[in-house]
Amino acid sequence: MKISKRTIDTILACATSAHPHECCGLLLGEGGRITQALPAANVHPEPARHFEIDPRALIDAHKAARAGGPQVIGYYHSHPNGDPRPSATDRAAAAHDGMVWAIAAAGEVRFFRDGEERFEALSYIVQPR
Ligand SMILES: [Zn+2]
Repeated sequence: MKISKRTIDTILACATSAHPHECCGLLLGEGGRITQALPAANVHPEPARHFEIDPRALIDAHKAARAGGPQVIGYYHSHPNGDPRPSATDRAAAAHDGMVWAIAAAGEVRFFRDGEERFEALSYIVQPR
């Protein structure tokens, strides 16, 4: 998986500004490359411990993808408690649909694939653009 540096920077800035709440958003790109993180509102009623991406942002992103824009490759959110691993809540919410999940915590971002059985850690290369 290849990730643009601005994707990482956007996720980390989003995590910092949302703290102590969880931030969330979408990962956009093409094929094996994530080019952009698109911040979305966390509409969950308990945003300090959970996230729910604003459904409007999801609909808009899928619409833009169908119109020729970048594809929705996955989602990101932050863990204000500093643990960058998928939580029990994340595991319960997993759709096992192969989407990429990025989790930001304590100044780092980790990437996982929502695989058929479980979240699989993804190794990645950061690209300058
Ligand atoms: Zn989580």
